[in-house]
Amino acid sequence: MNNKVVLIGCGNVGMSYAYALLNQRTSVNELCLIDININKIEGEVMDLNHCLAFGPSKINIKVGSYDDCKDAAIVVICAGASQNVGETRMDLINKNSAIFKKIVSDVMDNGFNGIFLVATNPLDVMTYLTWKYSGLKANQIIGSGTILDTARLRYLIGNKLNISPKNIHAYVIGEHGDSEFVPWSNAYVGIQPIKKIISEDRLNNICDDVKNAAYKIIEKKGSTYYGIGMCLVRITNAILSDENCIITVSAYDKDNKIFIGYPAIINRKGIVSRVKLDLNSNEMNQYNNSVMVIKKAISNINE
Ligand code: NAD
Repeated sequence: MNNKVVLIGCGNVGMSYAYALLNQRTSVNELCLIDININKIEGEVMDLNHCLAFGPSKINIKVGSYDDCKDAAIVVICAGASQNVGETRMDLINKNSAIFKKIVSDVMDNGFNGIFLVATNPLDVMTYLTWKYSGLKANQIIGSGTILDTARLRYLIGNKLNISPKNIHAYVIGEHGDSEFVPWSNAYVGIQPIKKIISEDRLNNICDDVKNAAYKIIEKKGSTYYGIGMCLVRITNAILSDENCIITVSAYDKDNKIFIGYPAIINRKGIVSRVKLDLNSNEMNQYNNSVMVIKKAISNINE
């Protein structure tokens, strides 16, 4: 089985992904790095290769070219501008959509027919554009969506209750951005509904902390990258190991014809389906608001 990954965009996020990949057991057997800064990736490839003596998996790491996409299982895109202090993810839209038009067409011109995994912001818009520019089926396009926000949520709740985040079954859904929210009616600690354990006020404070996490980190250290690096590895391994596991990613919403954060089943084919959530009317309104935000952003792109 060909488990080749092409990584496009080797800045903080791309390299955190690559480094996290080397530190875990993975079935990725080839990792090709592409960036407009050739000098940087030559250095990155040397540095990563020097990890292999102590890493858990055998991976062929090299400077890549778009030709590598023809037989790649996954193309991961982390290229583009990132948020500056005070900027929202949506502020990046025109810069990054122009970059994506060129990248996705270069990938497709080389006969790619695997899974796209997108991390660039504004995430749900870039995921939609990848689908549109590639012409691939919607199941072959996965955005990291609210996986990172969900990881932050699980950490914060677990930390408050002194319970492993692995046993917090709660998801952030909607736009990976300011309109995201937590459907608390679907949230559990182990098998107990979370609303029986934590008051509504405290839950809302936790949700605000999740939403503001990226802004806080950017204010303190300039950008966020380790968390998303781990999240992208989680999705990569779920695809290549044909896991059929449930992860909140940016997946196609057939009714609204956009990509948006939602729990979805992931395997070697990409997204199998979204998981059905029973949202109450308040949660449904919040979901529709996120849909509206993403649709509006897409309609405002200067092409
Ligand atoms: P960065 O500036 O460190 O890296 C961006 C890289 O993209 C650079 O190396 C640059 O040379 C490269 N690049 C630019 N144009 C390119 C092109 N046409 N082809 C190939 N490479 C190109 O930025 P970063 O901190 O790594 O962030 C990357 C993106 O990830 C941003 O949009 C950021 O907002 C986003 N991000 C997403 C999440 C998430 O949860 N999805 C989390 C953090 C950051």
